[in-house]
Amino acid sequence: MILKTTAIVLRYAPFSNTSRMVSWLSPDYGKITTTIKGSQRPKSMFLGQYDLFYTCELLFYAHEHRQSHIIRECTPLKTRDRFRQDWNACAVASYLTDLIARISPADAPHPELFELLDSGLDFLAESGATESFVFWFELRLLDRLGLTPRLQNCMDCARDLTAGVQGMGFSYARGGILCPACAREKHSSVLPLAPDILAMLRGWQRARTAQNAVTIQHTSRQVQKVSGLLGIFLGYHLDTALNSRTIAFDILKSSGSNLARNHRAAS
Ligand SMILES: [Zn+2]
Repeated sequence: MILKTTAIVLRYAPFSNTSRMVSWLSPDYGKITTTIKGSQRPKSMFLGQYDLFYTCELLFYAHEHRQSHIIRECTPLKTRDRFRQDWNACAVASYLTDLIARISPADAPHPELFELLDSGLDFLAESGATESFVFWFELRLLDRLGLTPRLQNCMDCARDLTAGVQGMGFSYARGGILCPACAREKHSSVLPLAPDILAMLRGWQRARTAQNAVTIQHTSRQVQKVSGLLGIFLGYHLDTALNSRTIAFDILKSSGSNLARNHRAAS
């Protein structure tokens, strides 16, 4: 059966000297793996037609009982050239596609996940990478997966914590915040949560668009705290290694301190 779909390149690996296995995320078929035969031959019709982070239109032979399908045609729709020159944006795009590749089951349609990744990569390619954008994307992703962190009331006694108080806890296992009294009772899987960090998390969770999310003001200390909390939450609930996340944040952090140093040197 020949099928047609839009799809984003998540990763690829050599399959033989001249062929490649490529993983894609599509709205209609979820994550699919394809073999592109002879794609590395000098005269291959597939040369330049796909690369990491491209969104393409695919025509492929679907094999019901095989794990990998065969591509017949591939046309790039969005090439997002910034990722070939901007190291920060490339590191964040690598993290997002790695994360999606790890959590998406094969051949299970999830159009909302596709839409999130496609628009997220568009934003990155247009505006560049910041920590705020990554937090927003992660919270959006958790929401789409039905795992959104509960940030309004205590998970145990339901006390309203809208205004935030000192001594709160963040229980990554329970999936939300705890009032000071409940946080004291539960020691394992509870991390301390300061009111300003809760306010930041709420801000990124509420932001409807990436454009809104990146206008939220923050300090580097707050970024570090939020990154730590969300990293533990994601690792626990998605049950996967997040090495690409660590690399992306390290690169953003070092370019941020370079910027600050250059700024100081210039002034
Ligand atoms: Zn409580």
